[in-house]
Parts: sequence; C-alpha cells; structure tokens
Amino acid sequence: MPVFDKITAAHDEMTAWRRDIHAQPELGFEETRTAEFVAHKLEQFGIEVTRDVGKTGVVGRLRAGNSPRSIGLRADMDCLPILEANSFAHRSKNPGKMHACGHDGHTTTLLGAAKYLAATKNFDGTVHFIFQPAEEGLGGAEAMIGDGLFDRFPCDVIFGMHNRPGLAVGKFQIRPGAMMAGGAFFDINVTGVGAHGARPEAGIDPVIVGAHIATALQTIVSRNVRPTDTAVVSVTQIHGGDAYNVIPEKAVLRGTARCFSELTMGVIGSRMTRIAEGIAEGFGAKAETNFRVLFPPLVNHADEVQFIADCAADIVGEANVNRNSNPVMASEDFAIMLKHVPGAYIQIGNGDGEGACEVHNPGYDFNDTALPFGASLFARLVEKRLDRLGAS
Ligand SMILES: [Zn+2]
Ligand SMILES: [Zn+2]
Repeated sequence: MPVFDKITAAHDEMTAWRRDIHAQPELGFEETRTAEFVAHKLEQFGIEVTRDVGKTGVVGRLRAGNSPRSIGLRADMDCLPILEANSFAHRSKNPGKMHACGHDGHTTTLLGAAKYLAATKNFDGTVHFIFQPAEEGLGGAEAMIGDGLFDRFPCDVIFGMHNRPGLAVGKFQIRPGAMMAGGAFFDINVTGVGAHGARPEAGIDPVIVGAHIATALQTIVSRNVRPTDTAVVSVTQIHGGDAYNVIPEKAVLRGTARCFSELTMGVIGSRMTRIAEGIAEGFGAKAETNFRVLFPPLVNHADEVQFIADCAADIVGEANVNRNSNPVMASEDFAIMLKHVPGAYIQIGNGDGEGACEVHNPGYDFNDTALPFGASLFARLVEKRLDRLGAS
C-alpha cells in the first residue's frame, strides 16, 4: 500500500510531534500552544490555515485540481484535568493536566495525513483539516459550528476517529447507526425547612426527600424506557448538611444519563423532572431539576461507514476491520458534527497487550505505533473519495 509506506517513512517525526504535544497538555478552549503547533505545521506543509475557529480551533484547507467535491477530517486537541502517573520522558509538564484520552495522538495522526497529502496532492477537490478544541464536555464542536465551520469550510462528508485501548494496533472497528451514547448531566436541588436534628417535626428534611428521589429515579430505566432501548441513569453525588444534629434546609443530587436516541433522552429528562418535583411536593418540599444534554448520541451514516471501512480494509485488510462492533456507553462530541454533515466515526486500535490502559486513566498513553495506521486511513479517505478518475 503506497500510502502506508510513505506515511510510515515519517513515523519517527510523527512520534516526536505526538510526544511534544503530550508533554504540554492544555484543557478545553485553552489549547493556544497546541493550536499554534498545529497551525505552524500546516503552514510549513503549504496548507492554508484559519486560526481561532470556535475559540481555539484551527482549520487547514488544501485544494488540488478543480473538482467541487470536498471532505472534512476532524481531530480533537484538548486534554483532561488528571494528574499524570506516568514517569516516561514525555510525561505532562503541566501538573493536573494530561492527555489521558489520546487527543495528542489524534491531532498528530491528522497532521501526518496533512503532510502526506500536501506533498503528494494525489486527489481532485478540497480537504478541510478540522482541529477542534474542547471535546471533553465543554462544547468544542458546537463552538466551531457556531463560528460558521460548515459555511466557511463546506464539507460533503466528514470523518473522525478515536483510539480504542483493548483493540490491537492495526485493527479498526465501527458500526452503522448509533455507535456512542448521548450524554446528559443533571442537578436536582431540593429545598426543605431546616430544623434541630432532634426536632424533625419542626422542619421538612431535604435529605429524606433526596433519598426518595434517588431511589425513584431508578424506575426511569426499568419502567419508562422501552426495554429494547439501552439507557443508564446514575446518581453520582448527594450532598446535604454539615452537622450531626442539624436537619439542613437544602440537599442536592447530581449525576449523568446515557442513551442511544434523542427520544429516549427526552423521556429521561421529562420523567426525572416530574419524579423529583412530585416526590418533593408530597413531602412538602420543593425540587428544581436542571437536566442538560451535553452530547447527542453519535449516529454514523450507513454509506459513510461502508466507505471508511472499505478504506480501512485497503490499508489493513478486511480481516482487521470489524464493521459491526458493539455500541459504547461513552459519549463523543463529534456526534454534533454528524448531525450537520453525513459522515462516520471509527475506532482505531491502541493496543491490546500489556499496557493497554483505558482512556481517562492517569496511567494511559497513546500508542505511537498506531500513528501510521490512523494517518494512512485519513489519507486513503481523501484519495478514494476525491479520486482523480471521478473528477468532473
Ligand atoms: Zn475522553
Ligand atoms: Zn477522547
């Protein structure tokens, strides 16, 4: 495979970029150094660069030939607020910040493809290299789209990828339709009447109300969501009071909900509000629910799934591409881009042997041996989608 061979020749250089980014991680919307690193590299490759798209996002535009066809390739740049536990030389220099989700690897993978495509230009059309900020729950995709991403840089189709620990390097997996869950966070603020801990009849205990609400919320999945749908409602925090002998005035419950359709997410949000308000009312207390959807479910488009899986098979062989992988309960804000433009999101193996540490873990590190596979897939997508034979 000529693409893979040529990109593999730049493996050492990509590894150096990846470790440089890893050592200097930046949180969502603070990726100024990373964005400048990316923009500078793209400019060196001869790619037209637009900075500050959606705050710290960067878009590179590369044109070859005259075809009006276009393709978007997307990577994420932000890190997580985690204290890195690794001791290797490229560990984080920013205490409490860490590339624990492999976005350093995704950014490098797309840069590797950009370098190859700018040098070879073996395609006819326009490629948009989209480096988005703030994937980890802060709304980076939304910010770029709000800043006119797809009006200023129109894309017929868009593709992204995420590393998958536990999947061998050189393997890919994907599924058509809903592949990753939609995610919501919620706060339920319960207000009662404070009292002496020995005189409960003088107050309305928000702790008891909150406990009933936490229990009743478990009936949303068991009694309200269709049994054939998959959903999770987790109350992950309950806070109230700070003395042994005082019934507090307020308590708060917080948590997350995940599911694979917007309809189900709507059911969860409305049932949660009604259960919380109804239970509080029954006890003479008040409950206010703030249910906010952060990510819609990630829904892959069937044609683009087939296309990217075919491209992956061109590189690693059909036996290394799983076209019907299991859905995952984690969320991903590329889902928002897929609501605007047809496309697909694929998982790339980060290694299944020793050291196959999960993402969002202080011991995680992106596997540099995966870089040529990811960069080759991005490049193959362009050469196949914008092939010169199909040029008008
Ligand atoms: Zn993550
Ligand atoms: Zn991630």
